[in-house]
Amino acid sequence: MANPKKKITHSRKGNRYSKVKMRFRNNHSPLVPCGHCNKPIRSHHICPYCGYYDGKLVVKQEEKKEKPAA
Ligand SMILES: [Zn+2]
Repeated sequence: MANPKKKITHSRKGNRYSKVKMRFRNNHSPLVPCGHCNKPIRSHHICPYCGYYDGKLVVKQEEKKEKPAA
């Protein structure tokens, strides 16, 4: 069984949780701006508006129907 070598003291635990709290307070919204269309999207998700993820087109959105030139 994996066991911690040493006890984590109250102060160390509190110090760690305070940092988590700070991160939560500073970035309260789970939404981040899309790198392509700048709309608020969930982080680490494909943008539902433009279909981009990490600067690359992942999912093709519905394109405007273009009439084929006859
Ligand atoms: Zn987008």
